[in-house]
Amino acid sequence: MPKPFYITTPIYYVNDVPHIGHAYTTIAADVLARWHRLIGEEVFFLTGLDEHGQKVQQAAAQAGISPQAHCDRLTPQFLNLWKKLGISNDGFIRTTDAPHRAVVQRCLQALYDAQLIYHADYTGWYCTFDERFWTEKDVERGLCPDCQRPVEQLSESNYFFRMGRYQQRLIEHVQANPSFIRPESRRNEVLGFLQKPLEDLSISRPKSRLAWGIELPFDANYVTYVWFDALINYISGLEYLPAQPAENRVWPATVHLVGKDILTTHAVYWSTMLMALEMPLPHAIFAHGWWTVDGEKMSKSRGNVIDPYTVVDQFGADAFRYFLLREIPFGQDGNFSYESFIGRVNGDLANGLGNLLSRTVTLIQRCCRGTVPPSHASEVTQLETELQSAAELLIHKTMPDHLRADRLAFNRTLEAIWGLVQLGNQYIDRTAPWVLAKDPADSKRLQTVLFHAAETLRFLCVATYPFMPETAREVARQLGLPHDVSQMLLASPIAWGDGGAEAVVAKGKALFPRIDASTFLRQGDSMKTDQSAAPSPSTSGAASTATPRTEGTSSPPSQQEDGLITIHDFQKVHLTVAKVLTAERIPKSAKLLKLQVDLGTEHRQIVAGIGKKYSPDDMVGKTVVVVANLKPATLMGVASQGMILAAGDQEVQGLIAVENGDVQPGTKVK
Ligand SMILES: [Zn+2]
Repeated sequence: MPKPFYITTPIYYVNDVPHIGHAYTTIAADVLARWHRLIGEEVFFLTGLDEHGQKVQQAAAQAGISPQAHCDRLTPQFLNLWKKLGISNDGFIRTTDAPHRAVVQRCLQALYDAQLIYHADYTGWYCTFDERFWTEKDVERGLCPDCQRPVEQLSESNYFFRMGRYQQRLIEHVQANPSFIRPESRRNEVLGFLQKPLEDLSISRPKSRLAWGIELPFDANYVTYVWFDALINYISGLEYLPAQPAENRVWPATVHLVGKDILTTHAVYWSTMLMALEMPLPHAIFAHGWWTVDGEKMSKSRGNVIDPYTVVDQFGADAFRYFLLREIPFGQDGNFSYESFIGRVNGDLANGLGNLLSRTVTLIQRCCRGTVPPSHASEVTQLETELQSAAELLIHKTMPDHLRADRLAFNRTLEAIWGLVQLGNQYIDRTAPWVLAKDPADSKRLQTVLFHAAETLRFLCVATYPFMPETAREVARQLGLPHDVSQMLLASPIAWGDGGAEAVVAKGKALFPRIDASTFLRQGDSMKTDQSAAPSPSTSGAASTATPRTEGTSSPPSQQEDGLITIHDFQKVHLTVAKVLTAERIPKSAKLLKLQVDLGTEHRQIVAGIGKKYSPDDMVGKTVVVVANLKPATLMGVASQGMILAAGDQEVQGLIAVENGDVQPGTKVK
């Protein structure tokens, strides 16, 4: 029976759209899931959404819709991003799923019956933002120790989980299992936290204050504290989400990936909950760091939030996946800048892997009529032996070592893979096949060299697949490999010399076109979503989400004095056919309509100033033209991700329509 590998991301809180942090954790989990499937393990990879709690209730109230409608509206933002990023999760859990709610209630009832949950009056300092109580000793100057917002004194009757009872047992578990909390620095942090007395945990909220949650099975006046509900997803998801029941898919999780901000919640709350439920603890909880942007903390108010959708649209999912995991060690904080991103794409990807593939395939086409030639034992020198040992070491030793659940050295793994890329390029430089090709007497040597270059790429296919699945598939396609890359280690252990010969290569497009850094960085600002800069609706003339019109300094240098633009300037605007799915008026606005539109690959919410000319009913089902790469903005408190084209200056006179109404959403307009 294959070994089970169960990996999770945190379930993401649906009070906002996904950002680079969500993408980072989920990509890391995906790489591990793909790697473990590749080596023949039975993988269950779970991610999902945390949909209860006060912030969701508040955000929904602000939008004037029910909390469930709010969650339903945001869910596609996550699902579409995972699709775009090539995430291969096996389950997607939403805490509003009925089976999840049933498991939460079952756990609560079990703990209540075992008298591990009790009722008590409690007075404490409450932080509304974090939805939690703090004790006197936690609070300094009246501020929440977590978010530094003012706390208020609150007296409340609540239910408590006897968390304190498990303190000693948890300390002993952490001490006895060095790989339980990773990396080491975080483990020390948890042990430090556990030196203070561990108090019991309030696990209920009175419905009078918060209605959006899972009702306690033993008291209908309360809902469950959002964390108690959310953490249970790791066991409920395993119960009802696998497509096929597999005996092998069992608790405990192999590794929970979490951001460092929610480590305590997992290491302490979740571990003690599991102890109380008499269930084993996960093998590893791995806390990763945070991303800053150009050296600053990412925040909406700074306007420097990196939108993963935008990066992927510009550069492709694989470049983004590569950069995030290559740039920094997984447990540490990192900085995102387009300069370093472009440096990696041009250096490692285009000049490194892309170049190795392109020159190998070209040489095989030119010198061997497009068929991978055989190797000749008499021609194998130390150069070939070195290449072979490096490739075998990478797949059989370095990768399994670095990707161990307690280590997760993604950056070291990629460094090692790119060591082989470099060796491959050096090999071609040294052997100079184009010189060998000139003399028929060297033909056996030439064949041996090209065979070994192709063999190196075959090993690189397997090595890069978990990180860059589409790239690996394209390399395999160009090399003419008959196997599905995702199955290459499953079919039989990969061995040097087994593959390649007689495969018919097919030259394709460059794997990673080089980015012209000077052109790109000039327009760099538009890559960041700047919600703080959204203008007031009154300045939006037509059907627009109103591009800020006051960016005096940012007019592109390529714009000529005569006001003419080049075709290149025009192509920066992504115009797309879209279909309007739903439309509604924005309260207190005569002009603004909120539309959900289908862009073919995703759904977007767009606020359009067309409400005087068109009613919501007019709009539903219409085919329109949308500016798809406009900076998101917020109008009357409603997020807008694009702009619908219309004619008219102060007043809208008509929408720009597509003459043939059958044109599919997502079709490019040019
Ligand atoms: Zn707080």
